[in-house]
Amino acid sequence: MASMMQPQIILLKEGTDTSQGKPQLVSNINACMAVADVVRTTLGPRGMDKLIHDDKGNTTISNDGATIMKLLDVVHPAAKILVDIAKSQDSEVGDGTTTVVLLAGEFLREAKPFIEDGVHPQNLIRSYRIASNMAIQKIKELAVSIEGKSLDEKRSLLAKCAATTLSSKLIGGEKDFFATMVVDAVIAIGSDDRLNMIGIKKVPGGTMRDSFLVNGVAFKKTFSYAGFEQQPKKFLNPKILLLNIELELKSEKENAEIRLSDPLQYQSIVDAEWNIIYDKLDKCVTSGAKIVLSRLAIGDLATQYFADRDIFCAGRVAEDDLHRVAAATGGTVQTSVNNVIDEVLGTCEIFEEKQVGNERFNIFNGCPSGQTATIVLRGGADQFIEEAERSLHDAIMIVRRAMKNSTVVAGGGAIDMEISRYLWQHARNIAGKSQLFINSFAKALEVIPRQLCDNAGFDATDVLNKLRQKHALPSGEGALYGVDINTGGICDSFANFVWEPALVKVNAINAATEAACLILSVDETVKNPKSESAQGEAAGGMGRGRGAGRGRGMRRR
Ligand code: ADP
Ligand code: MG
Repeated sequence: MASMMQPQIILLKEGTDTSQGKPQLVSNINACMAVADVVRTTLGPRGMDKLIHDDKGNTTISNDGATIMKLLDVVHPAAKILVDIAKSQDSEVGDGTTTVVLLAGEFLREAKPFIEDGVHPQNLIRSYRIASNMAIQKIKELAVSIEGKSLDEKRSLLAKCAATTLSSKLIGGEKDFFATMVVDAVIAIGSDDRLNMIGIKKVPGGTMRDSFLVNGVAFKKTFSYAGFEQQPKKFLNPKILLLNIELELKSEKENAEIRLSDPLQYQSIVDAEWNIIYDKLDKCVTSGAKIVLSRLAIGDLATQYFADRDIFCAGRVAEDDLHRVAAATGGTVQTSVNNVIDEVLGTCEIFEEKQVGNERFNIFNGCPSGQTATIVLRGGADQFIEEAERSLHDAIMIVRRAMKNSTVVAGGGAIDMEISRYLWQHARNIAGKSQLFINSFAKALEVIPRQLCDNAGFDATDVLNKLRQKHALPSGEGALYGVDINTGGICDSFANFVWEPALVKVNAINAATEAACLILSVDETVKNPKSESAQGEAAGGMGRGRGAGRGRGMRRR
């Protein structure tokens, strides 16, 4: 009897929301285009900044694609992919984050009419991948190596790359000043891979021009006790002792439990405590160190003791600062003051405690192993300094990349126009639909120069026509022409030192193509009802009832 009945297949829970097919794909593309539109206006030296404030009242002003994308809190599942590629571009290369989002959005925009006309996404994906590989190949061919130049020459070339990166930022007005600073900092740390070896300290107040580079370490004066003012504040070639122990009287009684049978014994214990701390301090002094730094507290007793012996001390130094001092001065952090031999002491040419704005700074200059550098940033508002820090980070990454890979291409849309032309030309020899797809890939690349023009208020159609003409010259002499951001015409970007490391472009095109292909290959999204309600509850429980509603509002359109 039962075998006669048709069994009902229940695959998904009741309430599961699925959407599939062409409409789903098109809606994903629309979402991605919307995200790209958000960052669109920030591209290039004349790009605008975004002010983003969140529900906690934090305000951020930024021009950096990755930062903006992170703060946008995108909830659309497909559009999140664009956030991810911006983040990965940021960590892989450090620059080109707006570029990568724009390119991905444009690839999808070009794909949309084909999808609507019923082209199978796989055909598009295949052609996009081919075009992307050809583009990358071509960039590598066109890239110019700066290898084998003298250090001075390299310095100025690297500064050009840094200046190009900085020109689109808030601190663009002082790009040469900062570009030199960044190059000096990067060259100072040599081939060290640890980015945290370049410290950036922000001190509000003053002007940007008051920023300076320390060839070593600088950090804000730590909390200090009475007696500190009597310590000398400047040393030449001092020995530096780095500790990870507390130099305070109270510490002993908290570390031990003592039972007394006779109250008279108490005095001997107090004496012992004093002896222990004096013994430690004595050992610090006999080590010959003139500067004592500790991760942990250095108490008032120790401070006075050191002051009497013309020694400078600072307690509660932040961990990363202490590590950077260790790396720079060649010292090692000690966990005991027994047996402090000369080898574990660091040194530097000049140590100084100096006033910077409203703060006092401990500055270790001229460090022997030269693995660190510190940039002390000055400027008006907090948001301004923070954006300056992000911009410097971009520039530092670019200089490091350029040092390592040492090939550059012409920026300002020149390389994009050239690849675009190359792909158009190549596509002519391809029969079939694939020709159209490669053409649209080529057309999408033009988004970079077009957006550069739009953001600067130039007539994009006019400039792009000129650029196409120039790049089409059979002699190939126009290959380096890009948007002239100063006049609204076109110029030889390479000769004008608008340079970008080749890696930025290679990575951007690669990542953007991958993201576009990924989105094109999705034809169904399934929303599990349980996870949605769980999310809703969590959001509601945290007093943010809006969370769930917002998620629903953004879904599919
Ligand atoms: P991203 O986050 O992608 O790095 P940017 O806002 O830094 O975005 O803009 C980078 C683009 O601006 C690159 O295409 C670069 O070639 C271009 N660019 C930078 N400086 C200039 C300049 N002086 N003239 C023309 N284009 C420039
Ligand atoms: Mg940039």
